Amino acid sequence: MLDDRAHTTTKLDETNQKEPMTTTPEPIRKWTDIAPGDAVNLNLAEDLTITAPLNEMGERCPWPWEPQQLGGAPLGQYHCGYCGAMVLAGMPHIDYADEAQPASPPARPRGGV
Ligand SMILES: [Zn+2]
Repeated sequence: MLDDRAHTTTKLDETNQKEPMTTTPEPIRKWTDIAPGDAVNLNLAEDLTITAPLNEMGERCPWPWEPQQLGGAPLGQYHCGYCGAMVLAGMPHIDYADEAQPASPPARPRGGV
C-alpha cells in the first residue's frame, strides 16, 4: 500500500544524473503560466522548477512554447523542433506524460538515433 506511492516518487532517479533521491520538491511553476516572451531564456530540460510537457519518449520538452505561436500557419500537425513530439500548430504543446509512462525503465531500445 505505502509501497506504491514510494515507487512513483522515485521514478526519475534512474534517468537523472546527479539528482539525489530525496530532494525536497521546489516550488513548481507551470510552463503554461509563462508567456513565450518571458520564456526566451528558459530551458526546461535543465530548469526542473518549471513543469514541462513530455514527448512520446517521456522526455521533457526544452522549450514547449513554439506550437502555440504558430496559429494560422499551414502546418497542422508537425514535430516540435525542440523535443520531436507530434504537436499541433496554434495549440499548446501536447503533453504525452500519460502515454509515455516515465515510471518504466529508460532502457527501451525504441526510436533509435
Ligand atoms: Zn516539444
